Amino acid sequence: MDKMKNTYEVLRECKVNVATGLSAYEAAKRLRQNGTNELESKKKPTMVQLFIEQLLEPMVLILLAASVLSLFMKEYLDVAMIVAVVIVNALIGVIQEYKAEQAMEALQELTRPKAFVKRDGLIHEVEARELVVGDIVLLEAGNRVPADLRLIESRNLKVEESLLTGESEAVEKSHEWYCEKPVELQEQKNMVFMSTFVTYGSALGVVVACGMDSEVGKVAAILRDTKEEKTPLQKRLAQLSKLLGIGALAICLLMFLVGVLRKAELLDMLMLSISLAVAAIPEGLPAVVTIVLALGMQRMSRHHAIVRKLHAVETLGSVSVICSDKTGTLTQNQMRVEETYCASAFGSTSTHLLLGLALCNEVHIQDEQLIGEPTETALVEYARSKGYDKRSLSKMYTLVDTIAFDSARKMMTSVYRHQGEIISFTKGAVEQILKRCTHIEKENGIVSLQEMDRKQIMQAMETMGKQAYRTIAVAMKKDGQMPEQHMIFIGLVAMIDPPRKEAKEAIALCHKAGISVRMITGDHPLTALAIARKLKIAEKEEEVCSGSMLDEMNDAAFAQQIDRFRVFARVTPAHKVRIVEQLQKRGEVVAMSGDGVNDAPSVKKADIGIAMGKGSDVCKQASDLILSDDNFSLIVRAVEEGRTIYANICKAVLYLLSCNLGEIMALFLSVLLMPRGTAVLCAIQILWVNMVTDALPALALGVDPLDRFVMEEAPRHPKESLFAHGGGLFTVLNGMLIGTMTLVAFRYGMNRSLLCAQTMAFMVLSISQLFHAMNLTSFTHSIWEVGIAKNRWLLLTVCFGIALQVCTVLIPALRMLLKTVLLEMNEWIVVMLASLLVIAVNEISKWAAR
Ligand code: ATP
Repeated sequence: MDKMKNTYEVLRECKVNVATGLSAYEAAKRLRQNGTNELESKKKPTMVQLFIEQLLEPMVLILLAASVLSLFMKEYLDVAMIVAVVIVNALIGVIQEYKAEQAMEALQELTRPKAFVKRDGLIHEVEARELVVGDIVLLEAGNRVPADLRLIESRNLKVEESLLTGESEAVEKSHEWYCEKPVELQEQKNMVFMSTFVTYGSALGVVVACGMDSEVGKVAAILRDTKEEKTPLQKRLAQLSKLLGIGALAICLLMFLVGVLRKAELLDMLMLSISLAVAAIPEGLPAVVTIVLALGMQRMSRHHAIVRKLHAVETLGSVSVICSDKTGTLTQNQMRVEETYCASAFGSTSTHLLLGLALCNEVHIQDEQLIGEPTETALVEYARSKGYDKRSLSKMYTLVDTIAFDSARKMMTSVYRHQGEIISFTKGAVEQILKRCTHIEKENGIVSLQEMDRKQIMQAMETMGKQAYRTIAVAMKKDGQMPEQHMIFIGLVAMIDPPRKEAKEAIALCHKAGISVRMITGDHPLTALAIARKLKIAEKEEEVCSGSMLDEMNDAAFAQQIDRFRVFARVTPAHKVRIVEQLQKRGEVVAMSGDGVNDAPSVKKADIGIAMGKGSDVCKQASDLILSDDNFSLIVRAVEEGRTIYANICKAVLYLLSCNLGEIMALFLSVLLMPRGTAVLCAIQILWVNMVTDALPALALGVDPLDRFVMEEAPRHPKESLFAHGGGLFTVLNGMLIGTMTLVAFRYGMNRSLLCAQTMAFMVLSISQLFHAMNLTSFTHSIWEVGIAKNRWLLLTVCFGIALQVCTVLIPALRMLLKTVLLEMNEWIVVMLASLLVIAVNEISKWAAR
């Protein structure tokens, strides 16, 4: 009951000195003793459990049951072979699932939360899971609370605790609150709890409970709820595979009946039908999708884009509008002061301007290094270069209060005590500052601010804006009254923030890919337009919409004009939500970037919410994608990856389905047409084909490298079927082609013997499927154009599969097991020609389509 003790007691109990924090040694000791500060997640299935799950698939069970029948018939070799194939297939399944699981876990590692902690008297950033009871933790707006903390200091602290209380409104917290008797969680104002978010203010607290001892740790339901929901594509494919599975089962049953009617061997027919069902039911489809998505996520994380939710990978591929921040994302965020304006003159500075720049900010100085936001460090650096060093000034000026910057107010204030008097400096967007000024500092002293002065200042700012400068106005107040009102205007500073070169290229790529790019910024319209011009986002003034214009338009008027606006300037976080909403109403799939605490709603609202790695935890929590480097080109790269991943899933699915169709067709037709229902393949051969041609090539297609043609197409509609753009016809025709060629080879082999015919059919069915996988590297471009070795994995699986296939006739033991015979030269030639036909036909049709 830490909240009922006073702070002193709590600190004593935690055995920590608040001035220095724990020592690194003590922290390490406590970590060893009590374990990491983590919430336990669900137990994961072990490899063995996964393996058993694979064996318990209904069709596999039926197959195993049927092979018991073969045992009675003393077909021992058959049984051994069936069991071996089933085991190999199950192993492939286990490895697939395990890989997918591992990939997901690796991603979780990347998004591990961090915390600022005081140890040995210094502030360190550590992983939140390394916190121990007694650690002194610093919190500021935007942070995720890393453990249960008792507050020691707090300043205007507000915390959003919806995870624990269900209340989405942030609540005020204070170290000063104290209560004698135990109260409900919601009432404990001197405590902040793990996994909640600081939305305003700052604080210092001591860790009183970690991991499973924390309040969230006690709410088991929260932990259970963290399971990932299936993505739309996963759901669709699960449905599809169920449907196709029923279809395949029906055909197998029909085949069995036809076979029996045509007087085929009962047991042979039974084994054949069941094996075909095992081979043709696409039960592996959802697993392939999951693993492709997960591997795609991993690949993206290597390119500094961490996908937080699996479904985002799919959505990324259909993004049609990217709304991007300006500062840092489209520009380099390497600010430098280029120009100043004081007392009606460009290039002049005043003592108060430099004092304001040095003192009004949240920059920390550690070992001569300036730590803070680039806008602010540039200003502090500039003041320092003019002899106004923040550190030395701090000895004479004592900080009393700060009103933090937020992108809705667009200004901030620091209040100091100097020689017994209160002085405050405010800096921010020119309009915001000017609105609150009644006086101005000129060469001859402080005079009242005239309309003329206002005009001059606005003109000066426009001159700066047109040169793409970011402008900041500085004001002060000396009378100790309410800051930010009736202030004295001091001057302007202009900073240069050059656009990123790679952003320009990425924007050009977006235009080619049918994606529209909108700049959304808190900066002035003129500055925004100047940068937008350099990046080729916008050219004309009509393409710029300012926050005030937005306020004047109702939704209908805005909807009408939204298409023309490429740049939204001087907008607040609330405007951002409106922009996303209107774009979505037009059917756009919107990606929106953000970093501040207030950006969370728009980031959440967007189809793809993008948070910056350096941004607030609140925003990250609401996002689908986190960029570790806030560079616009990474967003485009992620879209490109998203498109590739979707295309790969499409390839894998169409491949599997056309192959299964080929298998079903060849077998069904042969049972229907051949004397006594003779099948083109025997049961074991079917299982073998399934093993060689199914999972591995499909997975290899799933990891097809980035497709250079993928950004030449318009964005995909999010509800588009996998069989769109002729995908369905492609599957059916190729399935029929593979099936027909198998029958043709069988017919040719019959010239010698049934065994030879089955061997030839076995070869063609398998090899043509492997060749067909090569067709799928591109739906539009020739294999040679794409490059035969572009996908190493695919080439490897195809070569390996063919080699394995050839072994089945060359190695006597396999020949016996798989009931094949040695082929003669002319038969080999027929096998190869029949298998290659599937490539030839596809190449011709791609060529004709172009
Ligand atoms: P974006 O990253 O969205 O493009 P931005 O950085 O341009 O946005 P904000 O950070 O909201 O937008 O800044 C808007 C305006 O507020 C700036 O043009 C500047 O005048 C002012 N401003 C920015 N940072 C500070 C700060 N640290 N202190 C005071 N004023 C600031």
